[in-house]
Amino acid sequence: PELRQDPCTRDWVVLAPQRGERPLEWGEPVPVPGSRETCPFCPGREERTPPELWRRPGPDGGWSIRVVPNRYPVVTPPTGPATEAVAGARRVRGLFRRAVADGSHEVVIETPDHDWDIADGGTDTVAAVLDACRTRTRVLRERGPGLVLPFRNHGAAAGTSLAHPHSQIVSTPVVPLRHRHLHDVARAYHDDTGGCLYLDLVRAELDDGARVVAARERAAAFAPYAARTPYETWVVPTERRASFADASDEALADVAALLVRVLGGLRRLLGDVPYNYAIVGAPNGGEGARWFQWHVQIVPRLTIAAGFELGSGMAVNIVPPERAAAELRNAP
Ligand code: UDP
Ligand code: ZN
Repeated sequence: PELRQDPCTRDWVVLAPQRGERPLEWGEPVPVPGSRETCPFCPGREERTPPELWRRPGPDGGWSIRVVPNRYPVVTPPTGPATEAVAGARRVRGLFRRAVADGSHEVVIETPDHDWDIADGGTDTVAAVLDACRTRTRVLRERGPGLVLPFRNHGAAAGTSLAHPHSQIVSTPVVPLRHRHLHDVARAYHDDTGGCLYLDLVRAELDDGARVVAARERAAAFAPYAARTPYETWVVPTERRASFADASDEALADVAALLVRVLGGLRRLLGDVPYNYAIVGAPNGGEGARWFQWHVQIVPRLTIAAGFELGSGMAVNIVPPERAAAELRNAP
């Protein structure tokens, strides 16, 4: 894979032709029957994944969570000696800048149970999944500057190609524009006020209450004030840690409970809704300790962005966040 920078936006794009070779389990519009029989993530087919990077042992010498390299990665680990100089090195030719797509793309197989899902509950299982992501995020952020992004896809409309419950973690040697922007805004807020934007935001949402879905001691779930999609929900811990890698066990437990609450609520309210969530944290390097706050952004995929949205970059949301939050609150 190769990273190219758009000279007009300075945003990075990954060119990853090998991604086109990955098997799609989904026919349109339903999963191909029998996918369970061939699933590469089910127990007994461990040899079909590359060697394991991490495992949480399960009963009887088995496993309860496995982390393996993605066989069709968006970015690939560096092949040569891993020096600062080669990781993500830029090559410039006139207006055209590219970078070696050194990085890592891992799959977190969340459970041996092909049919389980977060919305079914099991806060301990979800906390263990978050713990696996945190463990790998700690390892990956040591590899140099850039971003580590754990995320989860659910449903064909959210880009899922395999049904077996899994998350993924991608680390890139560049900081994508959106993340640089989030970081800059939080830093400017800290410059202006001396505070942390995200912690102040949680406090303001809890005070107001209209967009709160649920709250626990160490985290809150709310629909953001300017939600970009119907039922967009953020889960934000109330202990300040810029990087997800530094999250405490207590915060992970509360975030896990809120994820179950929100995704379970969505399912009770609207059925098996496709969604993506991403765990957003500060870029690697320890910067942001005073102004950033890791959090989870859950984006249900109920509508398709069309011409105006793509052309303008401005989202059109047909469900006000106050209504979305009230409905989710009442779907316990
Ligand atoms: N995959 C894999 N080994 C396989 C088959 C698939 O590592 O034998 C990867 C595949 O590349 C994909 C991931 O498993 O990235 C499944 O991810 P998901 O369904 O969330 O969505 P995708 O990444 O395909 O958009
Ligand atoms: Zn399976």
